[in-house]
Amino acid sequence: MTYDDKNLKITEIFFSIQGETRFIGYPCIFIRTAGCNLECNWCDTEYAKEPGKQMEIEDIIKTVSNFPADLVMITGGEPLCQKQTPYLINELLEKSYKIILETNGSFPLVEIPNEVYKAVDVKCPGSGEEESFLKKNLERISENDELNFVLLNRQDYDWACSFIKNNNIKKNVNISFTPAYNILKPKQLAEWLIEDGLSEIRLSLQLHKIIWGDRRGV
Ligand code: SF4
Repeated sequence: MTYDDKNLKITEIFFSIQGETRFIGYPCIFIRTAGCNLECNWCDTEYAKEPGKQMEIEDIIKTVSNFPADLVMITGGEPLCQKQTPYLINELLEKSYKIILETNGSFPLVEIPNEVYKAVDVKCPGSGEEESFLKKNLERISENDELNFVLLNRQDYDWACSFIKNNNIKKNVNISFTPAYNILKPKQLAEWLIEDGLSEIRLSLQLHKIIWGDRRGV
């Protein structure tokens, strides 16, 4: 890898509380990469589509080491838009960080080491990007990983339930349904899940938004 290849475009690096995934509630360092290949209708991180700041991987790791945690989430935008992201992941793993990779599901996961907890979105029809999920990725998702569906309405809920039923998802993969913030009421989603008795699905509310509202850098 050349020197230039060790740069990544970064939107922000900050320290907060993990708001989703099975690490919800733990202190976590966030690396938000810049750029995304999708245009979800309800995108809550439009600012991450700006060009961002070019940073050397070494400087990213130095910044991360200033925070008192060993849990790092790499998120976006879409982290896998940049081919250097797996390199950053490997460097962080070598330094014994626990890594969560949040990805929109449209890029192959083949280069992502097994030690990384992969939080993978499956985009539903309400996002306008329901064709984006790479089904091959289902082979790369284990019981240590998570599939997440953000739901806008009942149509998305039904679509997500059919997707799970029809796609032979490995047993014990964590599956979560998240109501689109300020669009689908959590209570409504909870009632659908209870009515249908879907015990393998976790209702996931975005803890950081409950605490701080829809702000960046938290
Ligand atoms: S994948 Fe994420 S960052 Fe990209 S458009 Fe969708 S919600 Fe926004």
